[in-house]
Amino acid sequence: MWPSAELHVHVEGTLEVPLLMQLARRNDVALVSTDEAELRARYRFASLQPFLDVYYENLAVLRTEEDFFDLANAYLKRASAAGVRHAEIFFDPQSHTGRGVPLRSVILGLSQATEEAPERWGMSADLILSFLRHLGGEAAVGTLREALPYRDHFIGVGLDSSEQGFPPSLFQDAYQIAASEGLHRVAHAGEEGGPDYVWEALDLLDVERIDHGNRALEDAELVASLRETQVPLTVCPLSNLALHTAPSDLADHPLAVMLDEGLMVSIHSDDPAYFGGYLDDTVTALRAAEVVSEDQLRVLAVNSIRSSFASEDHKADLLTEVEEYGRAHGLTVEGGGARSIAGSL
Ligand SMILES: [Zn+2]
Repeated sequence: MWPSAELHVHVEGTLEVPLLMQLARRNDVALVSTDEAELRARYRFASLQPFLDVYYENLAVLRTEEDFFDLANAYLKRASAAGVRHAEIFFDPQSHTGRGVPLRSVILGLSQATEEAPERWGMSADLILSFLRHLGGEAAVGTLREALPYRDHFIGVGLDSSEQGFPPSLFQDAYQIAASEGLHRVAHAGEEGGPDYVWEALDLLDVERIDHGNRALEDAELVASLRETQVPLTVCPLSNLALHTAPSDLADHPLAVMLDEGLMVSIHSDDPAYFGGYLDDTVTALRAAEVVSEDQLRVLAVNSIRSSFASEDHKADLLTEVEEYGRAHGLTVEGGGARSIAGSL
């Protein structure tokens, strides 16, 4: 797999059934079933709401600092096997503090795992604190203020959960505080919401990346602006398929259009335990559906690294790894294009 940066993954969305069962036993939490196959079957759903119902229900097993460490550590292990060399991982503190879990347990457990990632898994990792948009702007400000004593444990803020009806404009205060604290700023926009949500995230929240952003394609002026500014879009093809926010045939996914438009797009896994796979699974699916060429997969890997908040030195090292991977797998870059030797990847 091309060495890549994972910039759009929710740690809560990486809770695989075996760990779910292990944590349920550890914390004496009753699940709807004790049968692994039955629990797995509940990870398949037809639309957003049934997904969210299972997703929030499963979070009940996460209680202690150790649980959060185990969750992030399991993700990092899986990500390193998928070729992820650097990860910026979303976490939703409000999903846990709302259940009575101390914020300290959430942040310290997760950040211990990211801090140990270089030694354990040979990759770098950081955390991005995300606000649940359906809880509104004031709750976001409160959450951020509560988290500031742990400021050194996360690098930025994000905005996720149900998009429609909760435009970026509601979160200007929280994003202003984040900016004044020197935190990076990203936001989900243009997944369910229209191009106006993307404009708002850019203009009112001053975000450095847009998560998803697929619906930006509906607005030619926005596409031109994104092309000019090269604000990154973190696109999640398997998530789009699972939640029906893209055509039901992966071959018709707008990823190639976004690349052709010259946008700074990269591919990511969103909630991989629920949406059919991690970054390597995503690349395998894109190859099988012939959505993009092998050279475009190289560009997507390069874009993911360029779009990250890693240091310039670290980015340069990772970009060298991409080059080396290309050479080692018979892909030569000539005049900006790469030639694929079929079957070598
Ligand atoms: Zn997401």
